[in-house]
Amino acid sequence: MPPLSNVQQRDIDSVFHPYTPLHKLSETGTLVIDHGKGVFIYDTQGNEYIEGMSGLWCAGLGFGDEELIDAATEQLRALPYYHLFAARGTEPAIELAEKLKELAPVPISKVFYTSSGSEANDTQVKLAWYYNNALGRPEKKKIISRQKAYHGVTIMAASLTGLGPNHKGFDLPVDGVLHAECPHFYRNGLEGETEEEFTARMANSLRALIEREGPETIAAMIAEPVMGAGGVIVPPKGYFPAIKPILDEHDIMLIDDEVINGFCRTGNWWGAETHDMVPTTMSVAKQLTSAYAPLGAVMVPDDIYQAFVDYTSRLGTFGHGFTYGGHPLGCALGVKAIEIYQKRDILSHVRALAPLFERRLTGLTEHPLVGEARFSGLVGGLELVADKATKRAFDPSHGVGAKVSSLIEKRGAILRPLGDTIAMCPPMIIKEDELNALFDRLEGALDEAEGWVEKEGLR
Ligand code: PMP
Repeated sequence: MPPLSNVQQRDIDSVFHPYTPLHKLSETGTLVIDHGKGVFIYDTQGNEYIEGMSGLWCAGLGFGDEELIDAATEQLRALPYYHLFAARGTEPAIELAEKLKELAPVPISKVFYTSSGSEANDTQVKLAWYYNNALGRPEKKKIISRQKAYHGVTIMAASLTGLGPNHKGFDLPVDGVLHAECPHFYRNGLEGETEEEFTARMANSLRALIEREGPETIAAMIAEPVMGAGGVIVPPKGYFPAIKPILDEHDIMLIDDEVINGFCRTGNWWGAETHDMVPTTMSVAKQLTSAYAPLGAVMVPDDIYQAFVDYTSRLGTFGHGFTYGGHPLGCALGVKAIEIYQKRDILSHVRALAPLFERRLTGLTEHPLVGEARFSGLVGGLELVADKATKRAFDPSHGVGAKVSSLIEKRGAILRPLGDTIAMCPPMIIKEDELNALFDRLEGALDEAEGWVEKEGLR
């Protein structure tokens, strides 16, 4: 390992890094990013990388977009801050809510703003509780999530998340959160089972969970159409149509977490449209502003909102809200990002590039390290396995995914290891030659990793 540069040393001396193996920092150092343009970012040494993850699945319009920068500057000049508490309003918050209502795949009445995706999902749970209290059903409070789900890191959002590292050491999950099975056919399908049979089994297992717990105790189920940080898990085609009637039968809301899926990523405005999901409420963040400022939102239909109005008339006020929820900078950027998605027709661009993305990803299943390629629009994942025939995973302590990702970085690209799944979520503005370059760098890294696996005897 080369010695740490001055800026790396200052970084690890003072910054507490999220989602990082803290015990290895002094060995690995950090990658300090200086600036970006289009799909490229540059570190403080001047090295260029294709940002194949849009940061954290969020900078869908890439870096240094002048129109977004102008919109931000204009908003900061006009009104750098105001809030929405106590019946205050701002023009950007109004305009963005109107746009979200127009775009929503189901009728939406009101938009509640947060500063992040975690806060949006936390808010969803509070709203589900408030709603059932409003209806005089105080026992209907549990929330169903899924194993491998990722819904954020605040105490409730982390509890909804179904991944070990988000629970271990944090005394989570809290009570009242149930984790249903993960609809990942490649990993969880049984020997000889068809995808249709697997889907029916997932639905039956959800029904059994609801009946075991008592439907009168369950308020909502939360799900991403495509599970992102859990490993880019694309559900079987009939999954949401199979589970929705079970939820409806028991009056259980379906909270659609569109934090990664939303805003054209899967080849439609919403992942719900691509994957036949009919949500009750929705959470959005990330590409909502193309990540140029933090913003999240919860979108609710009118019958639920009217129950809040009625309940609040009895309680006095609606006691929930964030200082920066609906920040005018975020809202102005949200309005501009949506305008850009529409006028540059980002949706058609994603649809036009998706076949190349699929072809190159599926091509990689020929590689000795790759067990499965998964994709939806311009989000994908490659699961690395020790044995393709038996789907045997590598021992997690070998860190094969992390190794591949560091080899990709050496070649000038950023992709994210989710355990041994390499995630890809390039800025949606990526051009064909840039996408091919990203895959070429990934392929080179896989080849080098294969040599390393062999040499180290990791199979
Ligand atoms: N939901 C999903 C699906 C996410 O991917 C994320 C973030 N990766 C979150 C919620 C949490 O968002 P944030 O990090 O903005 O709190």
